Amino acid sequence: MIPWHEIDSVFLDMDGTLLDLHFDNHFWREHVPLRYAEQHRLDLEAARSELVPRFRLKEGTLDWYCVEYWSRELNLDIVQLKREVHHLIAVHEHVTEFLQRTRTAGKRVVMVTNAHEKSLALKMEVTGLVDAFDALVCSHDIGYPKEDLRFWDRLGDVERFDRKTTLFIDDSLPVLRTARDFGIGHILAVRKPDSRSPARDTGEFAAIDSFQDIMPDQE
Ligand SMILES: [Mg+2]
Repeated sequence: MIPWHEIDSVFLDMDGTLLDLHFDNHFWREHVPLRYAEQHRLDLEAARSELVPRFRLKEGTLDWYCVEYWSRELNLDIVQLKREVHHLIAVHEHVTEFLQRTRTAGKRVVMVTNAHEKSLALKMEVTGLVDAFDALVCSHDIGYPKEDLRFWDRLGDVERFDRKTTLFIDDSLPVLRTARDFGIGHILAVRKPDSRSPARDTGEFAAIDSFQDIMPDQE
């Protein structure tokens, strides 16, 4: 599925790709509405119908991924709320082995995420994955989300790579389309970002069910 001899760099998304999106889905769909309802003395359904359109309005923007934006906007401590449900943060199956073997095979392994640095820090703390990467790139530091072509143009300022010999794996179709338009040579989607939701249609992109599907050969 992957011509490994043609790959020098492997760029990996975090939420939904390496980590189970169940945490994020639960957090935004259940936990934030619950705490927002308590704070505003609303019932849960009323809180949800207030929040869902506000979330939708920000989809695909840096604000959507920004814990400080939502802490301000909702008057809730989003990082603290994430800590309350941190037991749901989980690494997808075979990820740890995939990261190890990819590096052993001599590839540069880089996490490329839209997550805010505080979310990233919490997830690295809980999963212990941080040392598995040669570099971690946060779109907040670049100034644009991965959905924006300008993110990819500027990525070269912080990470040396050749787009033709780069493999990029992400669970967001808008992000994958931008990476493709930029010219990333090898692109894969993720069929099951949330382990508790059904597999998804990944449109025009080839997809993995598990990192076991693309494990580099053992030396
Ligand atoms: Mg993702």
